Amino acid sequence: MTKNKERKAKTVSPSKAKMKMPHKSTASPKTDTSDLPLQIPPEELAHLLLNSSGEGIYGIDTKGDAIFVNAACARILGFASEDELMGKHMHNLIHHTRPDGSPYPAEECQIYQALREKKGTHVDDEVLFRADGTSFPAEYWSYPMIRDGELVGAVITLIDITDRLQMHEDMIAARKQAESANKAKSAFLANMSHELRTPMNAIIGYSEMLAEDAEDEGLDDMLQDLNKITAAGRHLLSLINDVLDLSKIEAGKMDLHLETFSLIEMLDEVSSTAASLLEKNDNKLVCSVSEDVGEMHADMTKIRQILFNLISNAAKFTKDGTITLQGSRELRNGLEWIRFVVSDTGIGIPDDKIDLIFKEFSQADETTTRDFGGTGLGLALTRRFCEMMGGTISVESEPGVGSRFFVEVPAVVEKKLENLEKEAVIEERSAHTEALDEASAGSAAATFKGKANDFAKTMVLVIDDEADARDLLRRHLESEGYAVVTARDGHEGLAVAASLRPSLITLDAMMPRMDGWATLRQLKANPELKHIPVVMVSIVGDKTMSYALGAVEALQKPVNRKRLDAVVARYAQSPVKTALVVEDDPAARSIVKRYLESANWHVEEAQNGAVAADKASTRSFGLILLDLMMPVMDGFEFLQQLRQGNGPSAKSPVVVVTAKDLSAEDRERLLQSVEHVVSKSGRDIEEVITDVRKSLTTIGVETTSDGNA
Ligand code: ADP
Repeated sequence: MTKNKERKAKTVSPSKAKMKMPHKSTASPKTDTSDLPLQIPPEELAHLLLNSSGEGIYGIDTKGDAIFVNAACARILGFASEDELMGKHMHNLIHHTRPDGSPYPAEECQIYQALREKKGTHVDDEVLFRADGTSFPAEYWSYPMIRDGELVGAVITLIDITDRLQMHEDMIAARKQAESANKAKSAFLANMSHELRTPMNAIIGYSEMLAEDAEDEGLDDMLQDLNKITAAGRHLLSLINDVLDLSKIEAGKMDLHLETFSLIEMLDEVSSTAASLLEKNDNKLVCSVSEDVGEMHADMTKIRQILFNLISNAAKFTKDGTITLQGSRELRNGLEWIRFVVSDTGIGIPDDKIDLIFKEFSQADETTTRDFGGTGLGLALTRRFCEMMGGTISVESEPGVGSRFFVEVPAVVEKKLENLEKEAVIEERSAHTEALDEASAGSAAATFKGKANDFAKTMVLVIDDEADARDLLRRHLESEGYAVVTARDGHEGLAVAASLRPSLITLDAMMPRMDGWATLRQLKANPELKHIPVVMVSIVGDKTMSYALGAVEALQKPVNRKRLDAVVARYAQSPVKTALVVEDDPAARSIVKRYLESANWHVEEAQNGAVAADKASTRSFGLILLDLMMPVMDGFEFLQQLRQGNGPSAKSPVVVVTAKDLSAEDRERLLQSVEHVVSKSGRDIEEVITDVRKSLTTIGVETTSDGNA
């Protein structure tokens, strides 16, 4: 700033502005500057800097009038030259109005704040006005000029941020667009997962069943063809699943289901499942794991899948060789890690291909696709699974010698993100599918009527909207000796469950009207039904969600029959059946009730025939213990109504427990409509109970006290 403030420069006059320059020639006299390539006098340097800057720069005095202006400033503000701005009150000229159009008084101007408070300001949400009256969004910095402790003015630097804001808006718009595209993709995939997997389940399920029939009947040729259909179906389904899993991971929708499990047991299971893969190329599998490897807390299904993928690759690319599966525990940086190694003596992987194999859709050698099949997705998924659990996967390989894959996962995996969000529920189902289902479903009532008297068998309720899926499960479970009832949606399922009290329910997740998750919630919220074990059977196989809502197990379609059998056998083992005790004497009722409960029955009571008839008209009892002489309605009348009616208990077994002295004729007549008659006249209650027990065994409905049927 000049000493003489009045002498305002007509043009840019940095020399008069006396700006502080970085390389002042007032350097220490001892400093030898002769080796600097070029010495620029400070005034010239100031001039150069001002005029070379792309940013608008102007200086004002304490009144707010321009005392210097650079070329960029005039250009940005739309003035023909810097001269047009010199001496002007800059606030009034270019800064008079706020972005919302309201007047901007100079006293409030942030630039003048720099003057008032002697400190710099930075603003990027205001507008500046050009010579032609138009405005533009600007970012500016103001910096106070102080000489000898006195404030003498301020320097303002400004830029036009129109392009930047536009870019920002474009970016937001692009992000929104990408997000909605991603949502559309997820919805599309959720649809695809249902629409693609459903027919595959039917293909695999029916071909398996036909294969079993063909085997029973010794139709070997047909059996081979059917096995090919099953194998091709399974292959196609696994590809579909891989693609869907990958996109689920990408969409951040893949959950970890963490549990603590024994490594030896898990590795044993993996080796025995993999056994079938080894026969084809005459390989043998050696599993080596130290006894003290202990437990791991991780997503067991994903660990199994990782190892299974590696073993199946090893089996595919090795002939007549050995595949080794190792598991060990290691301590590193104070953290316990589980290290799995899958090695083979197969064809190996060339050096230049080794980095590619963990990428989606890449194979070491395209000819391998021809020779060995595959999609190049297995290792990509395997890698993603490892990473989800905080682990790594790597490989060492030598062509012609073999490969070794190393998987390292923390012994205790921590969940980063619990994502219970369920997959988008498919609401729009094709009219075609609906129509087909309607036609083939048959009503649940019709289905259970014929079966309800299957007392000796454990009853399983299958809830699924797909007729084929219901049919497959029903046929399989029946062949395993279960009594099966079906329902085609949640509403129907709840009604059937309430009246028949099955020992176990298999429940599909995606169904129209009321989906499986809502059904599961309602089942578990109902005190009468919540004890019934529910197995989710869905194409998603979402364990986290299933367990969280109270299912005992989640199986993925197409259902692995052996697993289904194991699960049903395990959870349907103690069928909780309901007995109705019809007796007017509260003490006798309570003793019988206690006995039955100790034998694992759920018990309902009725103090006379009328109350009993009412209860029996709405639900099926596994057993009715009936006194004959009661007020309001006696046992005979109740029996007559029960057997002549069409209610769900019309065929329930009845054991009469009576103090009445029955003639041989009465007894004979009674036995036409009841299973057993126990006399209680002149006997103590222990004896009566022993008799009741015997009669239950005789008619095949007894449940032992440890709960086993
Ligand atoms: P694919 O379904 O094609 O097998 P993967 O992702 O599982 O897909 O494997 C990718 C490629 O890595 C394979 O196509 C093969 O070229 C190579 N590869 C994987 N495992 C082995 C192995 N054990 N030995 C030799 N090559 C392997």
